Amino acid sequence: MQYALVDRERREPFPGGRGVCTTCGSAMISKCGPRIMHHWAHFGRRICDPWWENETPWHREWKNRFPEECREISHIAPDGEIHRADIKTPSGIVIEVQHSAMTDAERLSREAFYGNLVWVVDGSVFKQNFDVYHELPAPESELGQDLVWEKAERHMHGTIVGMCVRLSECRLENPEATKTRGRGGTWLFMHEIRQQVIESYRGHHQYDWVRPRRTWLDATCPVYIDLGGDSMARLETYDESGLPCIYWVCKRRFVRDVMAKADARAVAVRVLPIPATTDRT
Ligand SMILES: [Zn+2]
Repeated sequence: MQYALVDRERREPFPGGRGVCTTCGSAMISKCGPRIMHHWAHFGRRICDPWWENETPWHREWKNRFPEECREISHIAPDGEIHRADIKTPSGIVIEVQHSAMTDAERLSREAFYGNLVWVVDGSVFKQNFDVYHELPAPESELGQDLVWEKAERHMHGTIVGMCVRLSECRLENPEATKTRGRGGTWLFMHEIRQQVIESYRGHHQYDWVRPRRTWLDATCPVYIDLGGDSMARLETYDESGLPCIYWVCKRRFVRDVMAKADARAVAVRVLPIPATTDRT
C-alpha cells in the first residue's frame, strides 16, 4: 500500500517506518529496500482486503495522477464488508486499476460493491494480442448509421483494412433490411470510402483481441485498457450489429472527467452540439 497511518496521519512509506492500516487498523511496516517499490505491508501474512493486489509501478503511476486524498479509500458496506478502492474521486467515482487477470465472480462482486465504478486495466501484459485497426465513423453520424462493418480478425486481411456494406444500398433490394437482418449489398473497401470515414471519425476503431480476458468484455462498468501512451482504449459495442470497437480516450481527459462527473458512464462521453433554435419563448 502507498499509505499507512503514522500518528494518525496518512504517510507514504519511509525507511524504518511503523504505522497502522487505514482499513483494518492493524500494524504495518514500511518496505523501502533498494530494489523494490516502496510500500507498506501488514505485519506477518495478514490480508485485510482479499481484493487488494500487490502494487506494481503501473498501479502507483495511476494513483499518482490523482490528488493524495483520492487514493486508497476504504469503503464499508452496510453489512460490514470492507474494501479499499484504489482511487475514489470527490464526485464519487471509484477507479480500480487492475494488473492481474480476474475471475468473473470477482469482477461481478466488485462491480456490485462499488456500483459507480470504472476499470483501468493494464494492457501491457497482453498488448501483443490486442490489435487496433482502421477508423470507424462516429456511430451516430449519417455514415456510421449507414455502414455495416465486417468484424476485424487478425488473420483476415480484408477485415483488418476495413470492409463493409451500405445499408442504404441493401434497402434498394430489400426495404426491410436492417444492420442485423436481411442484409445484402456489395462489399465496399476502406480505400474507396476513406475520406468520408475520416470526416466522420471521432475516435472509434475496429480491434481484435486474440485470446481475450473475457471478463472485461462482459463487464457492466466501463473498461479502459491502458496499452501505454497518452490515450486508453475504452471497450464499446459500436452499433446494433453488435460489432465490438474501441474508443480512444486521452488519459488527461479521463482524469479531468472522473474528477468532475458524478457518473462513471458520463466520463469522456462527447456532448453532441445542441441544434440551434430560434424559439426563445
Ligand atoms: Zn489492513
